[in-house]
Amino acid sequence: MKCDALLKMLNDYVDGDIDPAVCAQLQRHLKECDPCRVVVDNIRNTITLYRGAAEVCEIPLKFRQCLHAALRAKWEAKRQSPPAAAPGRQPRPGKPRK
Ligand SMILES: [Zn+2]
Repeated sequence: MKCDALLKMLNDYVDGDIDPAVCAQLQRHLKECDPCRVVVDNIRNTITLYRGAAEVCEIPLKFRQCLHAALRAKWEAKRQSPPAAAPGRQPRPGKPRK
């Protein structure tokens, strides 16, 4: 499972509305991927706040921007040094990447 795939399923995951097999994959990824874990924790906390509290705590904009920048930097670093083994996945020709 890759970060991109995980992020797409996050909403279902935090709702608990997800295939158990997929859920296991997600959890395995989260054990090894700090940025994704941070994102999931964040979403969980947000949902808990919204459900449990009458008052909604807003994350300061500055902090949010910092967090996003840090996560993006981590992801970019990861993408530029992909794991050695990626069986069955060939990059598609004709789509130049910068
Ligand atoms: Zn990840």
